[in-house]
Amino acid sequence: MDETKRMGAADTAAAIKRGELSAVEACRRAMDRIAAGDPKLRAFVSVIPESAEKAAAEVDAKVKRGEDPGPLAGVPVALKDNICLAGAETSCASRMLKGFRPPYTATAAARLAAAGAVIVGKTNMDEFAMGSSTENSAFGATRNPWAPDRTPGGSSGGSAAAVAAGFVPLALGSDTGGSIRQPAAFCGVCGLKPTYGRVSRYGLVAFASSLDQIGPIARDARDLALALHVISGRDPMDATSADRPIPEPTAAAKPPENLEGLRIGVPREYFAEGLDAEVERAVRAAIKTLEDMGASASEVSLPHTEYAVATYYVIATAEASSNLARYDGMHFGYRTPREEGLVETCARSRADGFGAEVKRRIMLGTYALSAGYYDAYYLKALKVRSLIRRDFLRAFESVDVIVCPTSPTPPFRLGERIGDPLAMYLSDIFTISCNLAAIPGISIPCGLT
Ligand code: GLN
Repeated sequence: MDETKRMGAADTAAAIKRGELSAVEACRRAMDRIAAGDPKLRAFVSVIPESAEKAAAEVDAKVKRGEDPGPLAGVPVALKDNICLAGAETSCASRMLKGFRPPYTATAAARLAAAGAVIVGKTNMDEFAMGSSTENSAFGATRNPWAPDRTPGGSSGGSAAAVAAGFVPLALGSDTGGSIRQPAAFCGVCGLKPTYGRVSRYGLVAFASSLDQIGPIARDARDLALALHVISGRDPMDATSADRPIPEPTAAAKPPENLEGLRIGVPREYFAEGLDAEVERAVRAAIKTLEDMGASASEVSLPHTEYAVATYYVIATAEASSNLARYDGMHFGYRTPREEGLVETCARSRADGFGAEVKRRIMLGTYALSAGYYDAYYLKALKVRSLIRRDFLRAFESVDVIVCPTSPTPPFRLGERIGDPLAMYLSDIFTISCNLAAIPGISIPCGLT
């Protein structure tokens, strides 16, 4: 019996620090679970057993010497494959970056490692984080561990599936428009998108720079708090990282039994047409539970919600078209074998290297930024974005938190939406406003379908 499979990050670190479990043992168990279960799930695109075991042995040596191995001592963690780890393949699940080994490590990953975490591998994702089902991976879709005919969500579907399957207790994802929270919801685990600026994006392959954040996926809120605390903070390598104090995760260590005084906002616009009845029932029951614990719930309005999907898909594609211009067949990754001259080589490398969804985004974004359309699309979207942010700021004058569904539907079947980009984009309706408003968002399970 592999008892380490059930242990969360905090419990694993505690057992290792007490000397009850060795980090090498925890690492080997995780590797065994991945080897046994992942051929079916495909949560990982690569594993790094040698460097993982080496890191684990260092943790054990520290324990033996009586040194503090850090708050995540020996915890096996997985990184979404758009988070750079020096020397390890970082492909973004794209043909374009297949075989790319970055010469540097993302700050969030380096901070995990410095806290004692053991990085075991890189997880599958929608190509360049564009998608909501992990089906846009160039290496094949990840399956939902609860129902293998369904998607794990996306784009951090590999990270969420790896945690849900018990391969690792903790994984990092990235969230530009819901990519941590929606797969966490689909896989029945917890996922947190921090406030914009809380976590350095140095070493995160950029998708939409004004929206991207790195965040943790784990089985409970306590582990999210622990991981967030480790990865947060100012980083001179990311000018957008905030220089704000980082509170100790004390509430996480001792969850409150009583929510007296907590004011919950329930956004009217989120409980409307298109919301699955089963999802609505589960969320309403969770709100009732919070009220039973002493919180007060009241309706709030986020009147610009109906523009969020359109606004996001203009801004995100515009920024993506700019960020992805660097993949020119010269500097990074894939280059066509049919070299024909500068322009042709660039064009052919991009045509062969990017998948259909990435090309769709680049074309949409380039269009939105082009002369004559910039004001009508991109600038307009920025204006609506500030209205969406204002909706939240206004709501937070009267409530402390806003509670809503993460996804309007339960996990859909593999293949069900892949031919219909608009249906896929609509799965993001409840998550993308957070990114546009730069506020934090968390997904906590509240029901099983
Ligand atoms: N599903 C959204 C998209 O396709 C969000 C992706 C993300 O957060 N990286 O853009």
